[in-house]
Amino acid sequence: MASEARNLHVFFFPLMSHGHMIPLIDIARLFAARGTKSTIITTPVNALLFAESIDRDKKSGLDIGVQIIPFPAVEVGLPEGSENENSITAPEMYVSFLKAVGMLQQPFEQLLEEHRPDCIVSDMFLPWTTDSAQKYGIPRLAFHGTSCFSLCVSENITRYAPQENVRSDSEVFVVPGLPHQIEMTKSQLANYGDTTNNPLAELLDNIQETELRSFGVLMNSFYELESAYAEYYTKEMGRRAWNIGPVSRHNRNNIDKAQRGEKSTIDEHHCLSWLDSKKQKSVIFVSFGSATRFGTAQLLEIAKGLEASDVPFIWVVRTGTGNENDQFLPEGFEERMEGKGLIFRDWVPQVLILDHPAVGGFMTHCGWNSTLEGISAGIPLITWPVFAEQFNNEKLLTQVLNIGIRAGNDVWNYWIEPKDVSVTKEMVLKAVTELMGSGEEAEGMRKKARELGEMAKKAVEKGGSSYNDLTAVIEELRQHSQRLMQRTQ
Ligand code: UDP
Repeated sequence: MASEARNLHVFFFPLMSHGHMIPLIDIARLFAARGTKSTIITTPVNALLFAESIDRDKKSGLDIGVQIIPFPAVEVGLPEGSENENSITAPEMYVSFLKAVGMLQQPFEQLLEEHRPDCIVSDMFLPWTTDSAQKYGIPRLAFHGTSCFSLCVSENITRYAPQENVRSDSEVFVVPGLPHQIEMTKSQLANYGDTTNNPLAELLDNIQETELRSFGVLMNSFYELESAYAEYYTKEMGRRAWNIGPVSRHNRNNIDKAQRGEKSTIDEHHCLSWLDSKKQKSVIFVSFGSATRFGTAQLLEIAKGLEASDVPFIWVVRTGTGNENDQFLPEGFEERMEGKGLIFRDWVPQVLILDHPAVGGFMTHCGWNSTLEGISAGIPLITWPVFAEQFNNEKLLTQVLNIGIRAGNDVWNYWIEPKDVSVTKEMVLKAVTELMGSGEEAEGMRKKARELGEMAKKAVEKGGSSYNDLTAVIEELRQHSQRLMQRTQ
């Protein structure tokens, strides 16, 4: 297979945001490991984030490289170097960021002209890459970065609008037409405000439309995890999709696991030896992804809840703009937590931590990468969704897979910095003690999570469902490219 696919040249174009870039870089590396030539398209600041991993791949003989295009930050009024969503600190800046992303079409097409790749795999947030691909007669695969389940939920909410039949934001409705009874409330639905002249709403429409015109969709998921929804997505929604995840499992050694996203400045060895000193499955990992930032009052509730639970923890804190100090910690907290908890304010090697045998639970914002990384580690989760499609992912964990306990946030946020307290100390305490305790329900979740973790590992191994789907998509692209070549000869 590897030698057959040797000449296939694939462009990978991720959106410049950690939650989108990290998995698509994993996918580019995965393709290269299976014999294709992989070229990643990105901007100068973002290229630095994964340069070391790509160098290691090159040294090991893989055909992988990067093409850099400039990011017009200053042209759209952003500070120089603001090339990643992580550097966006206000909703207005986000609109400018999207504008700058749209301006990448011309330099991108220049690269297509020069290199004439056989295929483009690009992020859903770059819908115009479908037009670019068509212009050059190249197939485009879209990368969503979420689950089949979430795409099915969103589709049926749009299709049937069940939220229009409820009398309040908190009244529960069932999402019609799905394989399971999925319950939600209006307050949990994404709401981008007035949709007229709203660039985000326009973008979401474009994403749908160009996805239908694409060659297909690559999913960072595995068939056994959500088979009913993988089927629904292809059969009921008419998409062509390949489930090739969890792509994080491609990172097999500690250095690859640690070098995803930002450079971590934490003392990794101290963190791992601290975990080594803990009992198996006794530690809860508390982290809310790369973007979510809670206000001081909410952080204080988390701190008090964790302390009251008496469960060892690793807590990654991302403070909001303006409160980067210790004000949120209760008096004497760090001294009392000595030996019991680790607090990091920086980027941490998340997959390395989750895969440690001492970690037994994960409190997460339900970003899809974190969700899948938790599932792959075989541990149950506490769900605390905030924005994007995170409430959908919560439903998958709590209503379909039954490996998650809700923290209790019920309100979707437009912005990643919710100001209010949505989960109190008591709610944190309840969720943590239930998940990490020895109750029957928790034991059941642990067992189910362990089984799913095993399935995730098998899916990406030779002969597994994701391994086979990757083989299938590469083979199909190769045949497509050969047919095109024969036609032009
Ligand atoms: N991540 C990490 N260290 C951190 C924070 C995040 O390695 O300190 C990684 C995490 O493993 C995941 C990604 O960043 O792969 C976050 O993606 P996710 O979809 O979970 O959430 P988002 O950041 O997009 O909200």
